[in-house]
Amino acid sequence: MKQYGFYIDSSKCTGCKTCQLSCKDFKDLGVDRNFRRVYEYAGGNWLEENGTYRQDVFAYYTSIACNHCDEPACAKVCPSGAMHKREDGFVVVDEDVCIGCKHCANACPYGAPQYNEEKGHMTKCDGCYERVAEGLQPICVGSCPLRALEFGPIADLREKYGTNADVAPLPSSLITKPNIVIKPNRHARPTNDITGHLANPKEV
Ligand code: SF4
Ligand code: SF4
Repeated sequence: MKQYGFYIDSSKCTGCKTCQLSCKDFKDLGVDRNFRRVYEYAGGNWLEENGTYRQDVFAYYTSIACNHCDEPACAKVCPSGAMHKREDGFVVVDEDVCIGCKHCANACPYGAPQYNEEKGHMTKCDGCYERVAEGLQPICVGSCPLRALEFGPIADLREKYGTNADVAPLPSSLITKPNIVIKPNRHARPTNDITGHLANPKEV
């Protein structure tokens, strides 16, 4: 099976959210849904040193959509078979088959499946597979002004950039084996870190 994936360079990402908005525009999503979301993780405090104070605050951004996982938690729990992994590795939902039970949304640790209230069924990032079939990039990747996103066969991305797919505030990559490679920001904290917090919970 072919498997595509995303490379996310968190050391370049400025949190501008152009990727998020270009996806929203291309997929015609309402205010309630964002297939690609930019996590802002921040922390730090004042530190006392010999009677003087300095701060160690930090913040960094990680752009995340569906990771078209090798072990998709969403597809495993879907009772209708609507959520499935295609031959090209993309995990997509057949909106005609979906019964709107939301099990997939509850199972995915990345928040990828998102319910469309109007249609009464689930929707999610499909990796822009129709564009990819035409030799084009997913719309989010092409729109990033910092060139912080890259797309391609995951084997190629791993050869170029390594295999790291873990960073706070994302869950452990052991859960679903996501097809992403993340270059950590210099301020990056490990998965399960509790020294920082998600600074934009309403946006992700
Ligand atoms: S468009 Fe690029 S720089 Fe802007 S938030 Fe998305 S990944 Fe980061
Ligand atoms: S909401 Fe639809 S895609 Fe998700 S688990 Fe239920 S039937 Fe499957």
